[in-house]
Amino acid sequence: MNKKLLIKINSLDIEPDSIHIDLITQNTPLSSEQFEKLFLNHYNSNILEEIINSLHFLKVNDPKNKKNGIVFCPNCLSKGIAYFKRKWLLTSSIVCCECNSYLMDYCPNCFKHFSYWDTTKKSELVNNSITSCRCGLDISKFSFPLSPTQLEIDYQKYIDFTIENGFNNHTQYSFTYLNTLMFTASMIKKIIKSPKYKKKLNKIYPDLIIDIEVPTNKWTLSERQYLLPIAYYLLDNFPNRIKEVFPKKYNLKKEFGQLPYWFEKELIFR
Ligand SMILES: [Zn+2]
Ligand SMILES: [Zn+2]
Repeated sequence: MNKKLLIKINSLDIEPDSIHIDLITQNTPLSSEQFEKLFLNHYNSNILEEIINSLHFLKVNDPKNKKNGIVFCPNCLSKGIAYFKRKWLLTSSIVCCECNSYLMDYCPNCFKHFSYWDTTKKSELVNNSITSCRCGLDISKFSFPLSPTQLEIDYQKYIDFTIENGFNNHTQYSFTYLNTLMFTASMIKKIIKSPKYKKKLNKIYPDLIIDIEVPTNKWTLSERQYLLPIAYYLLDNFPNRIKEVFPKKYNLKKEFGQLPYWFEKELIFR
């Protein structure tokens, strides 16, 4: 695979072009149906078009973002043909509910981000099994020593339902929930710096410490694993819980666009 193709590999997560389709189908043990399902654009046929837009936003797809490795569930990789699942690409994915395991984006042996190619040499593909780290560890043989909390599992099940069905009990358009979730997570990060709001948050979450300085689209998996279930919990029982901690005045960053009416009418126009 040449360098030019590798640079484009991030947008390939969304939709493969014909060069990639040919190249990959010649080298994959997956059936063409299984292969097609690996790409984010496959969501298109099942759910609302708007969700695709939100997935683009939610996805960590900045190729220059060196902090993010490829996300995986070690246990899923040990079952049958190993492949990296489409849903692991989504920013909203933090645990695997089927395996009751945390997702990972680093090798538990050398602690480097897991990657298909060797970032120390320019764009050179790693030439062995897709489950082998450069240090030699087979990540599919690893089992994460901690299990996700009930809140994290509940969060992921809710998100998976939302994406699969295109709606949830907050909204009939799932993209508005996903956007609001990210917004809420970024607000938690911001308001915890103010003693007044920290106190309010600590009533719900005692001992909450948040030390995340990077913008939302650069959050690593561990930052998302920490913040998104908290945001989900605050949005649960809407609008009661979030009303307790949400400031009456705030500046909405452009990256979130327009917040949905169901959110604004309870929290902004009051
Ligand atoms: Zn799994
Ligand atoms: Zn390693």
